[in-house]
Amino acid sequence: MRIGSGIDVHAFGPGDFVMLGGVRVAHTHGVVAHSDGDVVLHALTDALLGAAGLGDIGQHFKDTDPRWKGADSKRFVRAVMDMLRARRLRVGNADVTVLAERPKLSPVRDDIRRQVAELLEVGSEQVNVKATTTEKLGFLGRAEGIAAQAVVLLIDAG
Ligand code: MG
Repeated sequence: MRIGSGIDVHAFGPGDFVMLGGVRVAHTHGVVAHSDGDVVLHALTDALLGAAGLGDIGQHFKDTDPRWKGADSKRFVRAVMDMLRARRLRVGNADVTVLAERPKLSPVRDDIRRQVAELLEVGSEQVNVKATTTEKLGFLGRAEGIAAQAVVLLIDAG
């Protein structure tokens, strides 16, 4: 078994939705990002890479590479899942925390859970999605951006 963690932050900018775990969530702002700025999938990608000992998302998908401009972050997760498969590793479970004052996660939490489970090739019961605010403290508390943290366990695919 191997464990990995990941964290990601994006600032809010112009727009009317944010991508969270591959799910489009209506919001008063978008995020500033080279790709689609999905903090959940970026944190998960880093957690997967970390667990496998494969570095970080910036090494594999450079944020200056035109290939990833506006990219659907599901591509990053799928590419890393291919790397894991080649190493005979699969996901045991994943636990994600979204940190933000807004948007509220409760209406989309199950959709995110399902989408992330599909990407990680596990059942929904192997994925947990949590949300917290920072009690109005700091940049997240001032609703200047959104952050996510992910922890994943990889197990031997046998
Ligand atoms: Mg990111």
